[in-house]
Amino acid sequence: MKLQSESKANPGWNFNNSYTGLPDIFYTRIDPIAVRDPKLVVWNETLATLLGLNGSILREKTGAEIFSGNLIPEGAEPIAQAYAGHQFGQFTILGDGRAILLGEQITPSGARMDIQLKGSGETPYSRRGDGRAALGPMLREYIISEAMHGLGIPTSRSLAVVTTGESVLRERRFPGAILTRVASSHIRVGTFEFAAARGTKDELRSLADYTIDRHFPESRSAEHIYLDFLRQVVSKQAKLIAQWQMVGFIHGVMNTDNMALSGETIDYGPCAFMDAYDPKTVFSSIDRQGRYSYGNQPFIAQWNLARFAETLLPLLHSDQEKALQLAQEELTGFVAVYEKHWMTGMRSKLGLFNEENEDTMLIHDLLGILQQNQIDFTNAFLTLTQGTWKDSELGRMPEFEQWKHRWETRRQMQELTMEESHRLMSRSNPVVIPRNHKVEEALAAATDHNDYDVMVRLVKVLSRPFESLEGSEDYTTPAPPSAKPYRTFCGT
Ligand code: AMP
Ligand code: MG
Repeated sequence: MKLQSESKANPGWNFNNSYTGLPDIFYTRIDPIAVRDPKLVVWNETLATLLGLNGSILREKTGAEIFSGNLIPEGAEPIAQAYAGHQFGQFTILGDGRAILLGEQITPSGARMDIQLKGSGETPYSRRGDGRAALGPMLREYIISEAMHGLGIPTSRSLAVVTTGESVLRERRFPGAILTRVASSHIRVGTFEFAAARGTKDELRSLADYTIDRHFPESRSAEHIYLDFLRQVVSKQAKLIAQWQMVGFIHGVMNTDNMALSGETIDYGPCAFMDAYDPKTVFSSIDRQGRYSYGNQPFIAQWNLARFAETLLPLLHSDQEKALQLAQEELTGFVAVYEKHWMTGMRSKLGLFNEENEDTMLIHDLLGILQQNQIDFTNAFLTLTQGTWKDSELGRMPEFEQWKHRWETRRQMQELTMEESHRLMSRSNPVVIPRNHKVEEALAAATDHNDYDVMVRLVKVLSRPFESLEGSEDYTTPAPPSAKPYRTFCGT
C-alpha cells in the first residue's frame, strides 16, 4: 500500500487513531483494496474546510487517490470495525464488510471526526459480500445526509464520492463508487452487542469507557457513571427520532447496527421522506411488514435501546436483577423525552411558544385531516407558515376552516407577537426536502449521463431548506401521482 509521500504538501490531515487503543477484538487492521481508475466526482468544499482540509490539493488527483483508498494519507491507521446487530429483529455478527475507517481527523476547532471510506473492498467481516458499493446508492447517501444536515438534524456527513473505474454486480452491473463518510464516531448499538456477545466484562467496560470519554464526558461526574451513560444515550436517541418525525424522514433500516450512540443519523440505505402524511408509510422494498414505517420509528428506537441496555447490565449492578430494574427505569424514560421533543417540535411548526392543554388535540386533529385526505406533510406546514391556504390542497378541505379558527385563537394565547410566531414557523417548516423524484432525477443524470450538475443544484438548494430561493419552487412540488408506489432499495 502506498503511503502519501513526505515530500508532498500535507493537505491538512491531522489524524489521531484512538479507536485502535481499544482491545483487539473490536477491529482489524486492514488497508482498503486499491481500485483501477479513481475519479473524484463529488466534493464537499464546505465540509472539507470545517475538517481543516485543503480543497485545492484534494480536488485534484491526490484526492481521487486518497478517497478511493489507493493512497493512505499521512497519519491514518486504517481499520475495519467489528460489530453485531439485530437486523429486522434477528441477531447477527456483522462488522465493516465494505468500509474502512482511515482514522479520526482532529479538526481546527478540536472536534474528533471519523473519516470512513464506504465501498472500499473486502474485509474479514464481508461475509458473502464483495465489499463494494454502487455509484447510485453512494450519491443517494451523499444527498440525503447533506439534506439532513441542512435541516439541522444530527447526521453523518459526506465529504466525497469517487468512482472506481470498476463495476459491481447487483441485479445487473453498475458503476462502482466509494463514499467518504464523516461522523463523530461509528460506535453503534451493535458495537455494544458485539462486546456483550464476544467480549469479556473488561472488554465491554473498555468500550463503555471509551464511548463515555468520546461522547458523554459529563457522565464521568455522575454518581452512577454507566447508568447516566445509558440515560444520555436514551435521551439523545429520543430527541433524534422526534427530529426525524418533524420532517417526515423515514430511515428504512433501523437495525441496531445502524443506530449510532453519538445520536447522529447514520447509514442511509433505503431511506426517504414522506410525501402524503400517513404513519404507515414505508419505502424500503425489503421492509414488507412495515417494521420500520414512519409511525413505528419511536417504538423501534426504544426496542433498539432495550438491546443496548441489555449489553450494559454487567456494568450496572453486581446483582443482575437489580441491574435489569435500573435499566428498565431508564428505558421507560424514553417516552417522556420523546414526547417532550415531539410536542415542542410540533408546537414550533404551528408557531406556538407556550404550552396549553388543548395543544395535543389541535396537533392530532390537523394530522388527522392530513391523513384522511392524503395531504403532503411538508407542504401543509408550508401553507400554514406562508398563509397561502386559500388555493392549497389543505385549504380546500371542508374540515380546515374550523381547525384554522381554533389554531388562530390558540396563537393569540401567547405573549409573543404574531410576527415572532411566524418567524418560529419559518425556521421549523422546511420549504424544500429531498423529494424522491428530485433525488431520482439527480441520480439518473449522474449515473446514466455522467452529468453531476443536477445533483449539485439539488444539494445546494437542500443546504438552505428553510429559505425560498429563486427556483426552489421547482423542488417543492410532490411527484405526480403514479400507479407505482415509490420504492427504495438497500444501499448496496
Ligand atoms: P447495511 O445494510 O449497509 O447497514 O449493512 C449491513 C451489513 O452488511 C454491514 O455489516 C455491512 O458491512 C455489510 N455489507 C453490506 N453490503 C456489503 C457488501 N457489498 N459487501 C460486504 N459487506 C456488505
Ligand atoms: Mg449498516
